[in-house]
Amino acid sequence: MFKRILIANRGEIALRILRACREMEIETVAVYSTADADALSVQLATHAVCIGPARAADSYLNQRAILTAALATGCDAVHPGYGFLSENAEFADACRQAGLAFIGPSGDTIRRAGSKATACALMRRAGVPTVPGSDGPVADADTALGIAEQVGYPVLLKASAGGGGRGIRRVNEPAELPAAFEQASAEASACFGDGQMYLEKFIVDPRHIEFQILADAHGNTLHLGDRDCSVQRRNQKLIEEAPARVLTPALREEMGAAAVRAAQAVEYENAGTVEFLLDRDGRFYFMEMNTRIQVEHGITEMITGIDLVREQIRIAAGLPLSRRQEDIVLTGHAIECRVNAEDPAANFRPCPGTASFVHFPGGCGVRVDSGLYSGCTLPPYYDSLAAKILTWAPTRLEAIRRMRRALEELTIEGFSTNAELSHLVLYHPDYVRGACTTAFLETHLEELVGWSRKVSEGESSV
Ligand code: ADP
Ligand code: ADP
Ligand code: MG
Repeated sequence: MFKRILIANRGEIALRILRACREMEIETVAVYSTADADALSVQLATHAVCIGPARAADSYLNQRAILTAALATGCDAVHPGYGFLSENAEFADACRQAGLAFIGPSGDTIRRAGSKATACALMRRAGVPTVPGSDGPVADADTALGIAEQVGYPVLLKASAGGGGRGIRRVNEPAELPAAFEQASAEASACFGDGQMYLEKFIVDPRHIEFQILADAHGNTLHLGDRDCSVQRRNQKLIEEAPARVLTPALREEMGAAAVRAAQAVEYENAGTVEFLLDRDGRFYFMEMNTRIQVEHGITEMITGIDLVREQIRIAAGLPLSRRQEDIVLTGHAIECRVNAEDPAANFRPCPGTASFVHFPGGCGVRVDSGLYSGCTLPPYYDSLAAKILTWAPTRLEAIRRMRRALEELTIEGFSTNAELSHLVLYHPDYVRGACTTAFLETHLEELVGWSRKVSEGESSV
C-alpha cells in the first residue's frame, strides 16, 4: 500500500480524500494556492506545500509545481480529485513517468473517454446506445448544419472536452446555429483550452441517470448502482439521489450492464461514472463518461456502504476488487444537496465571500462534506461549491424529510447560497412524486423564487 499520497485538489474533495487516507493510515501532502492557505485540508495534512498564486492556471493546474511537490515530499501516489487535472491525460502520464501512481485510469483511457466525440463513436461500436449525433468532432458550423439536418432539430452543440455544463448550446433551428457554434466553441476554448465541438440531438425532457463504475487492474468491472441527477440549473447538478426512483429492476439491470460495457470499451480502470439520458419513452442513451471521482459519489457510498475513495486507492495500488456484482446491494435511499455560494434570484450568479458563521446539521443519517468553517473565506477563483449535505433513510420519503430538516438546521452567514431554493424544491409536488426531469428547475424557478420571497416576507408558509 502507498505510504504517502499527494492530494492535487482543494476544498471539500481534498478533505474527503484526506479522510480516506487517514483511515487507511496513509500520510498526506496537501497542496494549496496562496488563496487557500487557511484551508482545513492544509491544517490536517501530514505536510502542506504552497504551489503558487490564486489563479488555477498558476497553482492547481500547474503540473510541474505539483509533480515537484510530490517528489520533494517523498509521495508515492497522486490523487487528482475532480475538476482541475483529474481528467488530464498528460498529467496522468506525467505522474507515472515520474514514478508516481496516478489514482485514476491510464492516460490512454482518459484520451478515449475524455473527449465526448471520441467516446460516443467508441460506444456506438461497443453496442451502447448513444444520442443520435455526429460521428466524431464537428469541424465547423457548415458541417454542423449538415449533421443537424440529418438528426433533426432541436440539437445540442457540446464542447468535446467539456465539463461542469460549460460549452453547451441548444439550437432550435438552422438560423441559430452559426452564432451558437461560435459562442460554444469560444467558451470551450476559454474553459478547457480546446474549442472542439460535438453535435447531438436534443432529447426533450429527459432524466439524467448515471451509473457508478469500479474496475480493477485484473479485468474485473462492476457497477454500484445508479443516481438520478435531473435537478439541474444551467446543465449542472444541484440535487442528486440514489437509487433513481424511475428505474425498474429490469431497466436498472439493462442500463447497469450497458454501463459496464461502456467502461470495458475504453479499458477502464479505477472509479468512474457513465452518464445516460433516459427519455420519456424509457429509452436510454450514453451521454459521457467521467473518468474520476464524482461530486455526488457520497450518495452511492450511503446506499452501498462502500467507501469509493478507499476503493480508488486500493485499485491504484494494484489490489483486486473485494466484491463481485452479486455482492452489491442497494439499501435505502440517499439524497445530496449541493450548497453553492450563488444567488438563484440573479441567474445563479456566484457570490463567494467570508463565512462569518457556519453551523452544519447532524444527527441520524446526515453527512456533511465541506471545507467551510466559521470565519473562513471561500475564494472567488474556483468553484462556488460550499458544502454538500447528504441524507440517508430507509425510504425515499424519509430521506426527503430528513433533508428538509437538515437544510433547516444549516446556517451559513456571510454570503448567499442556494440552500433555501433546494429546501423549497424538496416540498415541490413534482419532486416528492419523483417526477423531475432536467427541465424541472428552470421551468419552476419563477414559482420557487416566488415562494421563497413570500416565506421571507412572512406572507405564508410552505
Ligand atoms: P460531477 O458530475 O462530478 O457532478 P461536475 O460536472 O459538476 O461533475 O464537475 C465537477 C467539477 O469539475 C466542477 O468544478 C467542474 O467545473 C469541474 N469540471 C468538470 N469537468 C471538467 C473539465 N473537463 N475541465 C475542467 N473542469 C471540469
Ligand atoms: P458536462 O460534461 O458538462 O457534464 P454532459 O454531456 O454531461 O456535459 O451534459 C450536461 C447536462 O446537459 C446533462 O446532464 C443534461 O441535463 C444536458 N444534456 C446533455 N446532452 C443532452 C441532450 N442530448 N439532450 C438534452 N439534454 C442534454
Ligand atoms: Mg456530465
